[in-house]
Amino acid sequence: MSPLGRVLARQIAAGGPITVADYMAACLTHPEHGYYVGRDPLGKAGDFTTAPEISQMFGELIGLALAQAWIDQGRPDPFTLAELGPGRGTLMADLGRATATVPGFRAAARLWLLEASPVLKARQGKMLPGSAATWIAQIDALPQQPLFLIANEFFDALPVRQFQRGPGGWHERMVTLDAQGALAFARAPAGPVPGPPPPAGVPDGTVIERRAAADPIVTAVAERIARHGGAALIVDYGAWGGIGDTLQAVKDHQPADPLAEPGQADLTAHVDFAALAAAARQAGAAVASLTPQGVFLERLGITERARALARNLTGAARSSHVAAHRRLTHPDEMGTLFQVLGLHAVGTPPPPGCAA
Ligand code: SAH
Repeated sequence: MSPLGRVLARQIAAGGPITVADYMAACLTHPEHGYYVGRDPLGKAGDFTTAPEISQMFGELIGLALAQAWIDQGRPDPFTLAELGPGRGTLMADLGRATATVPGFRAAARLWLLEASPVLKARQGKMLPGSAATWIAQIDALPQQPLFLIANEFFDALPVRQFQRGPGGWHERMVTLDAQGALAFARAPAGPVPGPPPPAGVPDGTVIERRAAADPIVTAVAERIARHGGAALIVDYGAWGGIGDTLQAVKDHQPADPLAEPGQADLTAHVDFAALAAAARQAGAAVASLTPQGVFLERLGITERARALARNLTGAARSSHVAAHRRLTHPDEMGTLFQVLGLHAVGTPPPPGCAA
């Protein structure tokens, strides 16, 4: 068993089963053994890769979209340029390069980064030299001023609770110990489900997920946008609503058993964009329609950008560039699995790439 597995087994033996959300939070951000606390999980040598690591085009186009939204809203100065879960800092570095020629953008921007991992924070610092970023651990620390924000593959790492339909109602799915002392899933007695009413008429065994940790984050972002102006692009895998057990572990670029090695594998669950949109609207922001990543990037001109970059490439570099373009946009790859939710101030146009 992994070191965190032993910690959790002791905790469960003493205090009883824990929720899937508590399990996920411990796996990802336990102060000593959490997956994100002690490692850089990204890239070929890591466990998984992300859009900004696949191609510079992703961060460039996000940057130009946010800069256009900033222009559309009257070029507020100063404004917060924020990223949630910036990983290696690659997206922000590409964004910075692409927006360097937008008059006034850089001078007005104050960079704020929300990051839980000390290892990734150090990497971001190296990747963004001289950019005077402020790192925060809590969203409420974001200043009260216009906010232009990107979050790519951030919300999927926030813990979810799971509830399973049984004959007696909805049972919370728990993590417990089996007879051999190994971690195992179990069902709590039927009880209430937090958040929106669970779907009616679904078959026994159906699992639904609730991500309470996302609400205060979306609320804080949307409140600032509503009050001071701004826009946010939330990119992740998931759907509008959605049903089912989407908890997944990934290690060495392969699916893994979520209970096998707590703290040693990445753990995510799909994002329910309807829940994020509801929280954003409640806090007073306008919400654009959910857009597949492929459509979003095409609208922002990824094909023209890909062609321009291809002109200077030959051989293997050119093939890998063509493959990266396809990977980001094609419906069989990340093009429809990943979706983009745009938030903006009421009365302003939706962020470029998104439609009202
Ligand atoms: N956006 C980056 C990294 C995605 S991985 C990219 O696209 O490459 C998820 C990121 O969110 C990491 O930087 C991780 O450390 C951070 N993260 C995960 N849970 C977090 C939490 N609860 N609070 C703050 N940051 C968190």
